[in-house]
Formats: sequence, structure tokens, C-alpha cells
Amino acid sequence: MEHKGLLQCDELYKYILETNVYPQEPEPLKEIRALTASHRLFFMGTSPDAGQMIEMLLKLTGAKKTLELGVYTGYSLLLTALTIPEDGKIVAIDVNREFYEIGRPIIGKAGVEHKINFIESEAILALDKLLEDDDNKGNFDYVFVDADKVNYLNYHEKVIKLVKVNGIIFYDNTLWYGSVAKSEDSVPEVLKQGRISVLEFNKALVDDPRVKIAMAPLGDGITICRRVY
Ligand code: SAM
Ligand code: CA
Repeated sequence: MEHKGLLQCDELYKYILETNVYPQEPEPLKEIRALTASHRLFFMGTSPDAGQMIEMLLKLTGAKKTLELGVYTGYSLLLTALTIPEDGKIVAIDVNREFYEIGRPIIGKAGVEHKINFIESEAILALDKLLEDDDNKGNFDYVFVDADKVNYLNYHEKVIKLVKVNGIIFYDNTLWYGSVAKSEDSVPEVLKQGRISVLEFNKALVDDPRVKIAMAPLGDGITICRRVY
């Protein structure tokens, strides 16, 4: 599967990256992106154009206490760590520590590891644990959800309780390689299950009165979600 945004025109995507994104991308993020490029699952890394928008919103909202589900080699994690203030925190959850260890030396070198609490766990179990502590409820400024798509709705029910009112949740890959707008028959086998999950999730989110959303067609589609009450 090729890793190029949703834009149908390669030249335009290349233009966006080369003239607008790469010139302002911090050096450690370039490093982690280069390192990830040779990994067999490289396509899972967050697209730098999406990263640029995440950075903008993190800064504008002054997010400090953050949560990430789905770390992989750490592009979005490092981006968050570089962007939040010196005393900011990230609870980062992934079922696979080996992926995190790939990017960790770069995170260490960037001097931001002290902001990260990495938890190796099934995301749902780690969220339940966080919810056992009342102090965590309604206390996160920002959540980035990028783990298994089939569980997005389950994550949403937990995450909505952790994020504060007016806090933001980013749900990544909500256009699922553009497959959401295609018929099931025309979609490659490898995308089918994810397509069904994402379609169901997108529908549930738009009907959820607890949130207001903005769909950003960056990367593979990101739904920016604000908790309303
Ligand atoms: N945000 C990452 C980045 O910027 O590179 C990409 C995350 S990748 C798309 C998805 C990650 O979710 C993988 O590292 C995978 O191990 C993790 N994952 C998948 N299922 C999970 C689960 N049930 N609980 C926790 N993590 C899970
Ligand atoms: Ca993703």
C-alpha cells in the first residue's frame, strides 16, 4: 500500500510537502520519519502534513495534559512531546513496545522523554485503568486516537470521559484510504474490515451530541472532535 495522502494528484501532494511542510518540520521528526521509512509497516506513520495541523492546534489550545492511543515508532508522539510545554505530559499507550523502542533513541536525543509515560497495554485496558482514578476524568486537554480502527467506538466511550469539556480528540484515518466513499466490491480485501468500522464510527460520531466535529482531509483523514459537555 502506498503512503501518499488522500489527494488523487501525486504532484500536488509532493508540492504541499516540499514547499509547505518539510521546510518547517523539526529535525527530530525528520529523523524519525526517515528511520520509519525502511520499516515493513512504514505506512502506519502519521503523515507530516497532518502532523503540521496537529502541532498548530496543540499550540493554539495550549494543550498540556495529553493522551495517545497507538504510538508505533513515535512520529505523532514526538510531535506532541516537542509541541507541548516543558511541564506537559503524554500518556502514550501501545500494545507493542518494540515499535516504540525503534523511535525512542530519537525521542531521547530530542530531550523530551521526561514528558512521556509509555504504557504497553491493550488500549481498552489502559483506558479503564485511567478511568479508575477520578482525577483523570475530564482532565485531558488533547487525545490522539490512532490504534486499531475496529475499536474506535469503544475508545470514544472511554476517551470522552477523560477529555475535558472543550478539550479535543483527534481520530486518525477516518477516511480509510478513501474507501469510505467507495462501494464494498470496489475496495481491496485488505481495507474491507477497516472500512466497515470507520463508516460505523463516523456515523456514530456525527450523531453524538457530546461532540462537535471537523473533518480534515489531511493524511488519511482526521476527525477533529471537541467535547461540548
Ligand atoms: N501514531 C503512530 C505514528 O504517528 O506513527 C501510528 C500508530 S499505528 C497506525 C497503530 C498502532 O496501534 C500500532 O503501533 C499498533 O501496535 C497499535 N495498536 C493496535 N491495536 C492496539 C490495541 N488494541 N491496543 C493498543 N495499541 C494497539
Ligand atoms: Ca494513523
